[in-house]
Amino acid sequence: MHAEIVMVGTELLLGELVDTNANRLAKALRGIGLDLYYKTTVGDNEARITDVLNLALDRSDVIITSGGIGPTVDDVTRQAVASATGRKLIYSADLEAQIAARFRSFGREMAENNKRQAYIPDGALPLSNPVGTAPCFWCEDTGGRGVIISLPGVPRELEYMLDKKVLPLLVERMGGAKVTQIRILRTCAVGESNVDRAIGDLMTTQNPTIGLAAHAGQTDVRITAKADSEAEAESLIASVEAEVRKRLGVAIYGTEKETVPEVIGKLLLKNKMMLGVIDTLTGGLMTRELSDAGFGDRLATDLHTDDIDAVSRKADLTFEPDARDGDCRALAVGLAQYAAPPAGIGFALVGPFKNHSTYIALCGPGQMQLVKAGRNYQNSAYIRSWLAIQGLDWIRRAVLGQLVSPADWEEQKS
Ligand code: ATP
Ligand code: MG
Repeated sequence: MHAEIVMVGTELLLGELVDTNANRLAKALRGIGLDLYYKTTVGDNEARITDVLNLALDRSDVIITSGGIGPTVDDVTRQAVASATGRKLIYSADLEAQIAARFRSFGREMAENNKRQAYIPDGALPLSNPVGTAPCFWCEDTGGRGVIISLPGVPRELEYMLDKKVLPLLVERMGGAKVTQIRILRTCAVGESNVDRAIGDLMTTQNPTIGLAAHAGQTDVRITAKADSEAEAESLIASVEAEVRKRLGVAIYGTEKETVPEVIGKLLLKNKMMLGVIDTLTGGLMTRELSDAGFGDRLATDLHTDDIDAVSRKADLTFEPDARDGDCRALAVGLAQYAAPPAGIGFALVGPFKNHSTYIALCGPGQMQLVKAGRNYQNSAYIRSWLAIQGLDWIRRAVLGQLVSPADWEEQKS
């Protein structure tokens, strides 16, 4: 059994209104373990809504509509649901009495146009709406294709009707709620296509399902399992998670909402290690990330400036403005050594140099020194945040003693 949601409203379609209801509906369905396969947005047009609902009935078991059940002329969801399910719209004196009573309860007379809301498809189950005037309804297709449940567009009303009336009915129809558990494994500095290459064959499974989401330098692996109980869903996740972890290894830096700076901060603390950073590339973003995560006290040196010359003078190193590749590397290594606190890690992100390159060096623990020569990174906000995260991740791998050299890394053992 699976569901589909149909969002009705011209404002939604034209982007004048942000669709928060779809988000709410999707999460609620996931909460009861009812799979959502499609979402469609359609304007306030009876023929087009009818088309959408017919298509939805052809391919889905449960269709939930949002909006278009108010009293105005452009509220035409009722008519469309009646047409699609092969029913007539019929007047219900009961419904009219309920709507009138609701108006009276806040001291007003019901307007003539509200009588439109007393019409529902013949044979549909009305779902009384104590928080608004629009009665909602549950309407089975006469052809047996499925059910359409129509809810108001007003978010507060939709939420109430969903939680109090619709979800319990759906759970009953499903023969009990299913539990959906999600595990997010976060990777850094490997790239989405590499993650895909490593675990692509696992991504065809049905339960659990595995999906990837990429953002600035990071790729999340999302494992979703559905079962009758939380424990069962967890055990489904566990076996797949173990395999994913085996394949991705150190590339996985954390789970759920963990961030790279927070993980590195904890790791430095646990290992009683300090960090020294010299940075002419991210404008201090790298160490700021660490401080913002609450680990500023792990910083022994935090030197950031655009002036490489000034930095190198401070470290007592010579810097030639026309330095060639080898000299730039030596400078980066020298700066990392200068920044390194005792039994800690020194990190230098320097450039751009005249040869259009940037250099990244890491020093300690265990005498390790590595240099990466990169292209001349453009000075954009995106690149700065990418470099900051990437830099922190190199430090994480170094602390773990697992700084595997990608092809473009050169290892210089001192
Ligand atoms: P009404 O009785 O208010 O006419 P209705 O069921 O006909 O209710 P709509 O007319 O489609 O619902 O929407 C009413 C209001 O609810 C919209 O003006 C908008 O502010 C809000 N709304 C509608 N749909 C959504 C949505 N998908 N996400 C967020 N807000 C929405
Ligand atoms: Mg309306």
